[in-house]
Amino acid sequence: MSDTPAPAGLTEARRDELRAQLVGQIPRWYSPYAHLIVPSVLGLGLITGAILLLRDLRAWQLLLLPVFFLISNATEWRVHRDVLHKRQWFAPVLYDRHTPEHHIVFITEDMAMKSAREFRLVLVPAYGVLLLFIGTLPAAAVLWLVGLRNIGLLFVAQALLYTVTYEWLHLSYHLPATSRIGKSRIISALRRHHATHHDPALMQKWNFNVSLPLWDLVRGTIYKASPSASSAARTEARSEIRPA
Ligand SMILES: [Zn+2]
Ligand SMILES: [Zn+2]
Repeated sequence: MSDTPAPAGLTEARRDELRAQLVGQIPRWYSPYAHLIVPSVLGLGLITGAILLLRDLRAWQLLLLPVFFLISNATEWRVHRDVLHKRQWFAPVLYDRHTPEHHIVFITEDMAMKSAREFRLVLVPAYGVLLLFIGTLPAAAVLWLVGLRNIGLLFVAQALLYTVTYEWLHLSYHLPATSRIGKSRIISALRRHHATHHDPALMQKWNFNVSLPLWDLVRGTIYKASPSASSAARTEARSEIRPA
């Protein structure tokens, strides 16, 4: 990565050093493809289960899916801004994995993973899908108990599909831009949005959606200028992402 500009205040050598340190900490038994496939298969299995439990599905019930999608999109935006970029007492690990690690290894001009083992630096922990599923259960159970069984099931299925899609999309943005997936128009456009968020000077304020930037649009947090225009502010931002 000799032609990769490093952010001011964090030299390219220091970034390389941190990256080597983080990759060196990945346990020997770690399997990147299991990390990608197992939660996805689990998620798709639970989605299939939810669909099989649907009874007498009506069109109006399906029309709630876009509403659920918007709720997921808004949740992604808020969790990214307030939990992944601010250290919260209830989930410090989410901040620690994201801001001082993911955001140091990958910056706007250098988004690509260098090996499959770096999946570990991009994907959420493998039990994440299970935790999300458990998190949706109270709302789904209440809906079921008040007679809105299908709505509860569609809510769970949509949330799981959103999560699995999030993982695959985020991983795609961190593939080399010249790879087959990286070159596709849709991934290129979405990667640009996410790569702007990977500018250390912008990450605390802009482009919090990782999948579709709908809630960024609603909240006015889509960064319009070129990320390189923000370089003057980088030195200041570095202090916020030093590893603990
Ligand atoms: Zn990323
Ligand atoms: Zn972020």
